[in-house]
Parts: sequence; C-alpha cells; structure tokens
Amino acid sequence: MDKNPPWSVGISKSLQDYLKISKNLKLARFKLAYYLEVLREKINTDWANINKLWGVHHQYYLLCQDLYFKENIYNNQDNFSNYYKKLQSNKRPEFSFLDLKIKLVEKIMETCHLCERRCGVDRSKYAPENLGYCKSSQPLISSEFMHIGEEPPLVPSHTIFFSGCTFNCAFCQNWNISQGIDEGKFIPEKKLAHIIDQRRKQGSLNVNFVGGDPTPHLAYILRTLSLCKENIPIIWNSNFYMSEEAMQLLQGVVDLYLSDFKYGKDQCAHRLSDVKNYWNVVTRNHLMAKESGDLIIRHLVLPNHVECCTKPILTWIKEHLGEDTVVNIMGQYHPAYKAYEYPEISRFPYQTEMEEAFNSAKQLGLKNLI
Ligand code: SF4
Repeated sequence: MDKNPPWSVGISKSLQDYLKISKNLKLARFKLAYYLEVLREKINTDWANINKLWGVHHQYYLLCQDLYFKENIYNNQDNFSNYYKKLQSNKRPEFSFLDLKIKLVEKIMETCHLCERRCGVDRSKYAPENLGYCKSSQPLISSEFMHIGEEPPLVPSHTIFFSGCTFNCAFCQNWNISQGIDEGKFIPEKKLAHIIDQRRKQGSLNVNFVGGDPTPHLAYILRTLSLCKENIPIIWNSNFYMSEEAMQLLQGVVDLYLSDFKYGKDQCAHRLSDVKNYWNVVTRNHLMAKESGDLIIRHLVLPNHVECCTKPILTWIKEHLGEDTVVNIMGQYHPAYKAYEYPEISRFPYQTEMEEAFNSAKQLGLKNLI
C-alpha cells in the first residue's frame, strides 16, 4: 500500500481488498470464479432445474469466499506475479463458477428480472420488440475512458458508460445517456475484454461499470469478464435496484460496490424516480454488498430533501453498515432534465443544506467521509 495516499488511513482500511487487487497483490474475485471448476456431476447439465443450479451456485459462492480470504494473500507484487503466471498457464476449467453465473443470468434474461421492476420480458435474444421498462435490448456503450473525476482511491478508473437505465429520475444529471438519447454503440464482448486489458496495461486501477445503469447488461458484462486476461478490480457503479438474484450473481464477481443511495423515503423515490419499494430493495442490496466486497456509498444531496432523505440514509448507514463505511456526500446537484417541473428540486442545494448533511454525518460518528 502507498505510504501516504491522499486519503485517510481509515478509508484505506475499509477499502483494503480493493486496493490490494488494484496493485496486483491479490486476485480479483472474477478471476477466482473463472478458475474455480464446478464439477460436472454437480450440475449434470440439467439446465432446466433452476433451483438446483442456484443451490450449486450458493455452495460455490461460499467456497469462493473461503478461498478469497484464506488463500488469496501475497506479500509482494513479485510473489503475486509468479502465482498469476502459473495460474494463467493452467488449462481453463471445462465449466467454471463464472460459467455457472453466465448460465444463470442468461436464464434470468428469458423473463427479465435483473432489477426489481421484474418486467418479465424475454430479453435473451436482444429482440427490439421485447423491451422492458429500461428499454434495453442489445447493450450499447455510450463511452469508455480513463476517468479522473471519481473518488481518489479509484483514479484513474476505466469507466464504461452503458446507455439506458432502470430508473427515470426527474433530475438525472446524465439524462442523455440514461434515457437513450445518446445511444452509443455495441462492442462485441471479445473486443471490450481486449479494451479492458489494454486500459489496465495503460494504468487503470479498476474497471467501472456504470450508465444509466449497468444492471440490464449483467449477462454481457459477465461474458466480457470471462474473456479478460488481466487481473483487475471490478466496480459495480449503480442505483442499487438490482433484483436479489442479480445481486447473488454479482457476489463473487464485484470487488467494490459504488452505490448511489438517493432516497430515505419511498414517496420521494416514487415521485422523483418512478420507483416502488425503493427503501427495502436498496437497503437489502447494501447489506448483500457489504457481505461480499468493499463499498463506497455516494449520496447526492437534493435541495429540500435533507430531512426526508439525507438524514435517514446516513442514520441507516451508521446503524447497519457501521461507522467505518466510506461515504461520499456529494454537493454537485444542479437542476437538469425535468427538474424544473418539480419546484422543490429546481434549484442548487444551499450551502446550509450541505453543512447540515456533513454535520449530521459527523454527529452520527461516520468516520470515512469523502
Ligand atoms: S432490467 Fe429492464 S427489462 Fe429487466 S426487469 Fe429491469 S427494467 Fe425490466
């Protein structure tokens, strides 16, 4: 680890696994999943028996967690590099834990329930007539580049922006991407995997899947990762409205969850983002993320929403995820997209609102604020 990184010791501690992978001192989770063989007799190619597949998935997830924490420890980059070279010279397993995840996500796409909207449409063949709420068919990438504007421990971050979103936020700051105006282009999995490898060689500390929202494209993302050669931390940068099944597939692949925790009340989520049951879904997913990776929570302070949203979110984080959770309280809100149709969010946040948000976090005892 750097002697003096430009962030606190507490943040380094909370993100220690991510930081080790980014420095090639630890194997990324998706690589473990790639090399972990699932025994044929366990699945017996009985693809129709979905419950059985989930049972096997759970068993291998636990095994992966065990390997990740007990064996995945290297003292220096040379040791890791020797180990990784050896690993790469091994034959790819006939059927790996990552392959099992790909099978399961492709099944989910047949009656799409990748997010909690659970539209049920068949998205498995990218047919433009079978669109759900997100209107996503073939994955379209609006841009990919080395982002230097993310949180300091993530920079430079190879950020891949998917077009389309599972939300429709009235104030979306990226509305041209999320609402599919800037459509982007399809990049075949093999080519994107090559780009990810190249960016890693150029110095990216991670690959960061975002949008819009990356959730509708989980199958494509997993297939892409199965073709990547480099060891690199995976960041899932999302509104956190994934279904429980999608969350289970992300566990054992994602190294750092970068969540966008927006609302403290379902009424606010419904009114401003057209989302139901927000609080239950998003808090459940934060608990699942904490169990299976490092976590940075972003919270964009909305004008007039400090009492109903900011404070309940910060309180929940302290009570359920702990005082060491890394939280980025963001003040860059500006009224964009349809925000002017909603009087309470049609202005910038006041300085006093930002101070209230930060003071509230400090009073709660949250230690790792960005
Ligand atoms: S990912 Fe899209 S199609 Fe699938 S459930 Fe969510 S909104 Fe519906």
